[in-house]
Amino acid sequence: MARVYNFNAGPAGLPLPPLERAQREMLDFEGTGMSILEHSHRGKAYESVHDEAISLLRSLLSIPDDYDVLFLQGGASQQFAVIPMNLLPAGKSADYIITGGWSEKALEEANRIGKARVAATTVDNKQYRRIPKQEELDLDANAAYVHLTSNNTLFGTQWKTFPKVQAPLVADMSSDILGKKIEVKDFALIYAGAQKNIGPSGVTVVGVKKDVVASARTDIPVIFRYETHAKANSLYNTPPTMAIYLMRNVLSYLADIGLEKIEAHNEKKAGVLYGVLDELSDYYKAPVDKDSRSTMNVVFRLPTEELEKKFVADAAKENMVGLAGHRSTGGIRASLYNAVTLEAVEKLVDFMRRFRRG
Ligand SMILES: *Cc1c(COP(=O)(O)O)cnc(C)c1O
Repeated sequence: MARVYNFNAGPAGLPLPPLERAQREMLDFEGTGMSILEHSHRGKAYESVHDEAISLLRSLLSIPDDYDVLFLQGGASQQFAVIPMNLLPAGKSADYIITGGWSEKALEEANRIGKARVAATTVDNKQYRRIPKQEELDLDANAAYVHLTSNNTLFGTQWKTFPKVQAPLVADMSSDILGKKIEVKDFALIYAGAQKNIGPSGVTVVGVKKDVVASARTDIPVIFRYETHAKANSLYNTPPTMAIYLMRNVLSYLADIGLEKIEAHNEKKAGVLYGVLDELSDYYKAPVDKDSRSTMNVVFRLPTEELEKKFVADAAKENMVGLAGHRSTGGIRASLYNAVTLEAVEKLVDFMRRFRRG
């Protein structure tokens, strides 16, 4: 079996053991004579997987009991709309901290639903190279909520400490959820598409304070109300059972390692790559301010676009894939999510040294 070194930004590589488990269980799930895909979402077999995934996520992130954990569809992109639909009533406005393309999109959707304002932006010549400092935030103490993106997948920046805000804090954690410890109680709502760090595409996880759910707007379609899904244990309509099953496998694997170790491993991997970028900074340009550097998505440029193309092509010949930057930013991006091994990063930096020598 020839598995590649996968640096994809999302959907991204998955750890091998959860995939192997899925392979073993594919045709006959736990002696039921069918795969989990073929089970009813109302049956015992699926429901135990579903509930296990919720409880694994709760324990891994230490999600307090006064939070609901929801499994939804439509990606993080749907949450860009669903959050203001639920949390932004008429007469109020929401604060958005803009640190990249995804927070821009979240803001656009909020403005379609109600009133949203920019509390800070670090855009500079269409690029985002840093996370704003606390004193740069122009916060409205009466805001319905403050929205931020914890890790900026396109530009490779990441909040190291979250800002102090008075209004309820909402965070898109799609690309760093379970990459490090967080204090869930500091947030009214966190959400993440699974396909970067915790599973396949098709399921979006939401952790939301129960009192936020209870006081959310009810003048919206039932399917978009958090309350609907909270009351139904995310079984109001047919959930993406295969995606949740695979996420359960990944969460179970991560739980065996523990979040502390996962975080240390991610720090180490990023340290190796940034170390080489700094060492070879005459050739590789890492545009992000050092104190804003993401441990999950490492972006850099080469002297020319031609060299960047050659870099991606030559790396692929050595089984390293997914290194092209986002189509909107260009350059190189190595995504170092939980599933990426230290060995893969060491292989990449060895390649980078050889590539520079030509
Ligand atoms: C990938 C990503 C999204 C979009 O996720 P979809 O599941 O495609 O909607 C949103 N926010 C962030 C931070 C992302 O990395």
